[in-house]
Amino acid sequence: MDTSRTQKRKWLVEFAAISLVPVLLLGVVLEQAMRGNARERGLAEATNEAALVSRLGVERQLAPEDLRTVLGPELQEALDGALRAASTADAVKGSTVRNADLMVVYSTDRKLVGRTGGPASQLRQALEGSIVSRISSGPRGKVLDVFVPMSFGAGGQPAGVNEVTVPYQPIAAAIAKDTRAIYPTLFIGLLLLYLTMLAVVTGASARLRKRAADKEQAALADALTGLANRTAFQNLVHRALLAARRRDTLVAVMLMDLDRFKEVNDTLGHHNGDLLLQRIAARLEGVLREGETVARLGGDEFAILLPDVPHRGAVAQVAKRFMKVLEEPVAVGGLALQVDASIGIALYPEHGHHVEALTRTADVAMYKAKESRSGFEFYTEEHNRNDAGRLALVGELRRAIDEGELVFYYQPKVDLQSGRIAGVEALARWEHPRRGLLPPDEFVPLAERSSLLRAMTVHLIDTALRQCSVWRAQGIEMNVAVNLSTQNLLDLQLPSDLDRLLSSWRLPPGSLEFEITESTIMGDTRRAMAILTKLSQIGVRLSVDDFGTGYSSLSYLKQLPVSALKIDKSFVMTMNEDDGNAMIVQSTIDLGHNLGLQVVAEGVESEKVYSQLAALGCDYGQGYFLSRPLPPDKMTRWLEVFAQPSVASPLAAGSPLEPEPVVTDDALKEWIIG
Ligand code: C2E
Ligand code: CA
Ligand code: CA
Repeated sequence: MDTSRTQKRKWLVEFAAISLVPVLLLGVVLEQAMRGNARERGLAEATNEAALVSRLGVERQLAPEDLRTVLGPELQEALDGALRAASTADAVKGSTVRNADLMVVYSTDRKLVGRTGGPASQLRQALEGSIVSRISSGPRGKVLDVFVPMSFGAGGQPAGVNEVTVPYQPIAAAIAKDTRAIYPTLFIGLLLLYLTMLAVVTGASARLRKRAADKEQAALADALTGLANRTAFQNLVHRALLAARRRDTLVAVMLMDLDRFKEVNDTLGHHNGDLLLQRIAARLEGVLREGETVARLGGDEFAILLPDVPHRGAVAQVAKRFMKVLEEPVAVGGLALQVDASIGIALYPEHGHHVEALTRTADVAMYKAKESRSGFEFYTEEHNRNDAGRLALVGELRRAIDEGELVFYYQPKVDLQSGRIAGVEALARWEHPRRGLLPPDEFVPLAERSSLLRAMTVHLIDTALRQCSVWRAQGIEMNVAVNLSTQNLLDLQLPSDLDRLLSSWRLPPGSLEFEITESTIMGDTRRAMAILTKLSQIGVRLSVDDFGTGYSSLSYLKQLPVSALKIDKSFVMTMNEDDGNAMIVQSTIDLGHNLGLQVVAEGVESEKVYSQLAALGCDYGQGYFLSRPLPPDKMTRWLEVFAQPSVASPLAAGSPLEPEPVVTDDALKEWIIG
């Protein structure tokens, strides 16, 4: 704030100095013009006065005929007297009358009388009727010679010229006086101009600066909560570190992540998720003291800067205050939500000297706090060792996508009534060069948390379509289902990515299916709805995955462009021993059918469950009993045997109520190996 004020002052002084230059230039020009004006006026006045003296003092005493030759002595005396009378106190120094032939017929300087000639150009102009004057230097200083035509009241050519000489000094004095009189006016005028200019420009610039400041403010504030955003936070930490370095003090950086916020967002919708974030932001701000900052870095991640702390204990106190204000439930969407948070703390200088190092170590500590459910944790070296693996994995994910380390395993879905293969689900695996085969739980969440999700999804859809096309080339018409993450459904680019991929593989859109978890769809974002609608318009089939684990609203389900429900495996796996689960499975099948949807049961691990499902009228089954997810080559061989219409189905197609599964894990192993 202070620096901006000095900056502003400096800028104002600069502007004031620069704008003085044109004002001064204007002043010089105006002064010149006005001075010229005053001089002209002074000379004109003197000239007129001389002409008047000539007419009253000389011309009146004479007749045109008198000019023919030198005047007689009495007339000369009389003119001398008349001149003295006509001119006030010494205003006229002399007078010389010449006739049209330029002969001096009278002069106060008697030496001149009788001579012919004089200043030719002035005399000629005067004889043409104009009064002209010139300044000349005489023995007694500067004088003004005024040549007055003598017309004796008649028009036409003057009969002679009277050269009236007046002292220049009084004229100069009058001019100087006149000139002096213009300075105050000029000065005040210019000053007013200058001040007006300054006022107008500083006013305009203040408005511009305010607008710029507003813009800058917007760029530094989080739009949802009004807290500082990531950029602002980093700047503030940077500044705090500079100050701490000088003063040798401690700085604390805290990262806070809300536990299970994603669930709230998914089940109550993004609108309520946003409300929750806003309310929490307000509470966090209430805890702050002077100079401390809370920022929202994005999603449900907040950061706190304590720029000057006495010791570690004081930081722990602040962390406890934050935990305390979150203890009270937050009212959102008619519910009182219990929000838990995990805080990771990094200290300068102990855990890092720069913004990046402190945020990274605070992040590591936050994960530790989340894992141990301890509320808050200070960073330790040990955390770093544990966390290195996770961080390294994120770092490697990009390479994994580019180098094809992410692959699909495929698991078939079987038509429970006919025993035919209805399609396969593609399940992602990471063939990590050192860590071996990684399940999706270990890397999909990393992709979701980083910016790699789109790249990964595009790569995987491409992989699935390629496989589909390979199978088609071999005469195996097989639909592939790919799982999508919640965040995929916020990506407006997904439909166009999909379009591009489908046309590059020249596959009918119906050969692809997306599985979307129930909670994703229940999040009432318009965006997700719009994207789902586009996907289904493209012709891709959609199914609701993990059905039964969220809080679906049935009426909502009806509006969705989905064609199938997948009952979550947690109900299916144990339905043969848990009556409650069997009930759930049964009612879900009925519900799905009533909504006009096909029903898939996942987690079919035994023959018993398989038969039960078939008896309940479930459409499709998927699970280890039929086949584990298999790598592409093995899946291909499996399909070569079971997916051909001409070849026997994997299940003896007897009575739908008594299916005889022929494909068990062991059977398959035997089949593939043997
Ligand atoms: P999901 O969509 O519910 O996939 C089914 C999971 O159940 C798979 O685990 C599969 O291997 C497992 N499973 C199949 N049959 C049985 C069975 O009979 N018994 C038991 N106990 N489990 C069975 P997997 O492959 O580890 O995948 C886990 C989750 O990861 C998937 O759950 C899905 O939500 C997610 N996922 C997998 N691939 C992708 C992907 O490409 N993109 C995204 N975004 N998520 C994926
Ligand atoms: Ca799935
Ligand atoms: Ca599932």
